[in-house]
Amino acid sequence: MSEAVRDTFGRPLASLRLSVTDRCNLRCRYCMPEDQYVWLPRASILTFEETERLVRVFAGLGVHKVRLTGGEPLLRHDLAMLVGMIARREGVSDLAMTTNGLLLAQQAAPLRAAGLRRVTVSLDTLRPERMLAFAKSARHADVLAGIAAARAAGFGALKLNTVVIRGFNDDELADLIEFARARDAEVRFIEYMDVGGATRWSMDQVVSQREMLETLGRRYGRIEPVAGDPHAPADRFRLPDGTTFGIIASTTAPFCRSCDRSRVTADGTWFLCLYAERGVDLRDLLRRGAGDAELAALIRDTWQGRADRGAEQRLGVADRGALYRIDSLRADPHREMHTRGG
Ligand code: SF4
Repeated sequence: MSEAVRDTFGRPLASLRLSVTDRCNLRCRYCMPEDQYVWLPRASILTFEETERLVRVFAGLGVHKVRLTGGEPLLRHDLAMLVGMIARREGVSDLAMTTNGLLLAQQAAPLRAAGLRRVTVSLDTLRPERMLAFAKSARHADVLAGIAAARAAGFGALKLNTVVIRGFNDDELADLIEFARARDAEVRFIEYMDVGGATRWSMDQVVSQREMLETLGRRYGRIEPVAGDPHAPADRFRLPDGTTFGIIASTTAPFCRSCDRSRVTADGTWFLCLYAERGVDLRDLLRRGAGDAELAALIRDTWQGRADRGAEQRLGVADRGALYRIDSLRADPHREMHTRGG
């Protein structure tokens, strides 16, 4: 493997979140709460060949973890074909996908066969009526079928992601742990974040890691931390019976100092941080006929100048509120979390 490219804080370029579409078939309140959105122009969306080429260049610079995201990645036609192209790429040792699960029942087996290794399914509630109110979808059963299909397809380390919001699902923590345990999956509770798209965010809706641990401690008894990958966003914990779960404390205890992640949007814009104001247009270079060496030089130089630590900086904001207003998101859809891939 090539020598890692490091940023100004010594963080390696190691993990890439690759959005394959900005479209989504849910309208979760923490991500896409509006009625109308400005979408990326279709002609700007990278082809599979362009995407695969970018992955090849990133892999040559040390990226070995690739996670497919959206929007909802399963809305991208023929996704298994792209999975196969990336899975064959030397250097990519971990190919994963985050999905809302609605279309997973049909696609789990072909994706697994194409070389996808791991799947994370978003599951914010076990109650269909809550999903209807919160995500404007009556398809809770499809998510559960998707989780079952992922299990049956033989994915390792199945994870369930739950964004915890006070007054919505903070009474379901133990139920979600039990649900995951019964399916040999691991739940990861995510603190509600003030990222682009979360236009209704407020601090009082955030349930902190500390509060989640207190709630679960009252139910289960002593909870122990589990040592793990220092670059992983989730802190992992173990219940007295050995069941593990994770918490991603991105709002109250951010982990920017170990962040090795960057994001490429479906139109080839590269963001060094979830909170970054601007990204780097890689599509333009690709379509102007740049060679791999030219692309690699731009990516290397840009990463070496990286000083982003967006979530840590947000900690210092007095009267913290939503990051963007709707008009600002409409003016530049790249600010949306569903465009950046969460
Ligand atoms: S806020 Fe930015 S630097 Fe911090 S963990 Fe998230 S993506 Fe990484």
